[in-house]
Amino acid sequence: TTTTAFLGLGAMGFPMAGHLARAAQATGGRALVWNRSAHKAQAHTEQYGSQAVDLARCAQADVLLTCLPTSAQVDEVIAALEAHLRPGSLWVDCTSGHPEAGRAQRQRLAERGVTFLDAPVSGGTSGAEAGTLTVMLGGEAAEVEQARPHLAFAGKVVHVGGPGTGFAVKAINNVLLAANLWAAGEGLAVLARSGVNVAAALEVINASSGRSNASENLIGQRVVSREFPVTFALGLLAKDAGIALDVVESVKGSAPLLAQTLGLYRAAAQMIGEGEDHTAALRLIEQMNAREIA
Ligand code: NDP
Repeated sequence: TTTTAFLGLGAMGFPMAGHLARAAQATGGRALVWNRSAHKAQAHTEQYGSQAVDLARCAQADVLLTCLPTSAQVDEVIAALEAHLRPGSLWVDCTSGHPEAGRAQRQRLAERGVTFLDAPVSGGTSGAEAGTLTVMLGGEAAEVEQARPHLAFAGKVVHVGGPGTGFAVKAINNVLLAANLWAAGEGLAVLARSGVNVAAALEVINASSGRSNASENLIGQRVVSREFPVTFALGLLAKDAGIALDVVESVKGSAPLLAQTLGLYRAAAQMIGEGEDHTAALRLIEQMNAREIA
C-alpha cells in the first residue's frame, strides 16, 4: 500500500488532500498531511480522516505532494525535509512554480534519489473540491506514469514535456486568464460609461466571439455581483504573470501584450491589495473610468 503526504493545506491544498484521503480509505493506503499552521492539518483530519504528522514523518512517505504559494516556499520545505528523505520516493509539486526553480529542485532532489515532477493544476477551488482539476506534468514519461495513480484530485492529466514545462504552461495559462479578464473589464467599463446595461452586454458577448471564462463566469459571479470572493489571490495571479514573462525572456520571445498584462496586474496588486480576489483587479479599471462594472 502507498503512503502519500500532502504539504500545504491552503485554498487548493485542503480539498486536494481531501481526495487523497478518500482514495487512501478506498485502497487501504495512508494519507498524511502537514501544514505550517497546524490547526488546518487538525481540521483536515477531522473532515477527511487524514493523518496530521510532523515534517520528518512526511519525508518517509512514498509520494510527497506540495501546494504552496511560490517555488520559494517549496525551497524552504525541501531544505527542512532534505536530511530525512527516502531514496526512491516521488515529489509531485502542485504549486504554480517557476520553471527554472523547478529544474533546480529536481536536480537537488535527484541527489537524494528522489524524483521531482512539476505538476501545477488549474480549475480553481471549485475544481479542487469537485476533484476535476487539470494537472500539467513536466518530467520523463515513465515518471509521469508513476505519478498518475496518485492524482485523485484530477479530472484531466496532461504530460506537457520535460522538467519545468508544466510550470511554464501554467504560467502562460494564467497570464491569458489575466489578459482576458482585464480586456473584458475595460470593454464593459466603457460600455457602462456609455449607458449600456452591463448584464445585457454580457449576454451578447457570451453568445458571441468576444467571450471567455472571464466573461462567462468570473465577471458575472464576482464583479457584477460585487462579491469578489477571495478564492485565488490577486498577488498570486500577478506572480504567475511574472513567471510567464520570465518564460518569454528565457527564450528571447516577443510578447508585448503579455508584458502589458504583467504591468497592469502588478499595479492592481499594489493599489487594490494582493490579498484581494484576482477579479478585484477590475476595481482599478472602475477607478480609471469612474464607473462600476455593474
Ligand atoms: P493559499 O494562500 O490559500 O495557501 C498557501 C499554503 O501555503 C498554506 O497552506 C500556507 O500555510 C502555506 N505556506 C505559505 N508559506 C509557507 C511557508 N513559508 N512554509 C510552509 N508553508 C507555507 O494559496 P492557494 O492554495 O490559493 O495557492 C497555492 C498554489 O496553487 C499557488 O501557487 C497558486 O498560484 C496555485 N493555484 C491556486 C488556485 C486558486 O484558485 N486558489 C488555482 C490553481 C493554482 P499557512 O496555512 O500556514 O498559511
